[in-house]
Amino acid sequence: MSTTARDLLDLSLVDLAGALDAKRVSSREVTDAALGRITATDTRVGAFLTVTAERARAQAEAADARAARGARLGALDGVPIALKDIFLTKGVATTAGSRILEGFVPPYDAAVVERLEAAGAVLLGKLNMDEFAMGSSNENSAYGPCRNPWDLSRTPGGSSGGSAAAVAARQAFGALGTDTGGSIREPAAFCGVVGMKPTYGRVSRYGVIAFASSLDQVGPLARTVGDSAALLQAIAGRDDRDMTSSARPVDDYRAALEGGAKGLRIGVPREWLEAEGLDAGVARRVREALAAYETMGARLVEVSLPHTRYGIAAYYLIAPAEASSNLARYDGVRYGLRKPGARGLKEMYAETRDEGFGAEPKRRIMLGTYALSAGYYDAYYLRAQKVRTLLRRDFDRAFEACDVVAGPVAPTVAFRLGEKASDPLAMYLADVFTVTCNLAALPGLSLPCGLHPTEAMPVGLQLLGRPFDEVTLFRAGRALERELPPLPRPPGIEP
Ligand code: GLN
Repeated sequence: MSTTARDLLDLSLVDLAGALDAKRVSSREVTDAALGRITATDTRVGAFLTVTAERARAQAEAADARAARGARLGALDGVPIALKDIFLTKGVATTAGSRILEGFVPPYDAAVVERLEAAGAVLLGKLNMDEFAMGSSNENSAYGPCRNPWDLSRTPGGSSGGSAAAVAARQAFGALGTDTGGSIREPAAFCGVVGMKPTYGRVSRYGVIAFASSLDQVGPLARTVGDSAALLQAIAGRDDRDMTSSARPVDDYRAALEGGAKGLRIGVPREWLEAEGLDAGVARRVREALAAYETMGARLVEVSLPHTRYGIAAYYLIAPAEASSNLARYDGVRYGLRKPGARGLKEMYAETRDEGFGAEPKRRIMLGTYALSAGYYDAYYLRAQKVRTLLRRDFDRAFEACDVVAGPVAPTVAFRLGEKASDPLAMYLADVFTVTCNLAALPGLSLPCGLHPTEAMPVGLQLLGRPFDEVTLFRAGRALERELPPLPRPPGIEP
């Protein structure tokens, strides 16, 4: 790749927007550079399931025509981005990483896709993910694993693994993912990028393939905090087609970015840094980030989230219960795969579902169906919902003493492919610090806080905020980003 294409792809989304505005570069040029980068690197990374090159070039030319008329639509106009394959895209295959959706071409766009297109964004294609967003390593994809651009023998995290890897590998200037129990924040941490899970209800889920509807939320993965703010700005807001989307006005995220950390009260949960299984190198980087906040004039306060230890158990009841209901619609009749040769309707359902779903969705359908069945509902689902209330109260109490809660995103850096693939429980435990945010419906930001002292892999810092206080997370995240040296390019895919 020529140095100019290389330099172009190193720009942040916001800087690229500036260059497009000043006509120093055209959208067509940068789109071609991104497509070239995908061709050159993606056989190794495996971030893309579908590349929509022609459509991207046409969108880029339309953006350039607008720029020539002096009618650019805003920050995202002409900027190449990509989408987790969980968002419905009209006319473009959408699989959710599952065989059961093989051949499914949606007849309409998700609300967030409409919004990005209305903002002029160029869509490069659809990104790899764990099947139906179930997983923490992208290894549950029916279409092969995605690899971490920092070290190709490691996972990029999941379930939005393709989104994090594509952004880290400079294949796209930003991506959308979804986060039900950590699926934006964990892969962002593993790949050294910024991931934002907004408050439940901040972004429309219309046209997003449902996993666990009371937890699912859409958000951006990007290389900088400012890029992430620009993307969220474009997709946030009420949508009448998703009754859980909030009518609250959307804050001006970018205006709040440079507010600094001075005066912020940062809550450090006692239970988190002492958690069993937390890697010492990860803990060290997180503590250093906390110390950097103090240097910047923030105040650290100890808080307690005593119900954290029930988070995984509650999450792995509620999410499978809701999934078992959401996945009932894949029956071979309406979408995607249908097993031929069955002798009757029931047999067709059973054979299609047996062939179409991988092991993890099957495991969750069984667990979820069991947890919801008569006689067990009160013992499992209802109790898990009560834990949810207790968790929310923990946070409400913590936020009386602090403005953001800070801690690790994951207990370790990106683990190796295969390391946990045959042990579902070990995989579930990787989510210990991320699931409580979804259960309590809070916003959460994951941002790089350096490389692990011995493993040379990125470590993520997690910041959680009050409901709908994304502004404070962006402000706190940006302050740290400014303070720390930027990460180098991921070395795993350098020539
Ligand atoms: N790893 C978690 C799970 O497997 C979270 C997934 C997600 O956020 N979509 O359910």
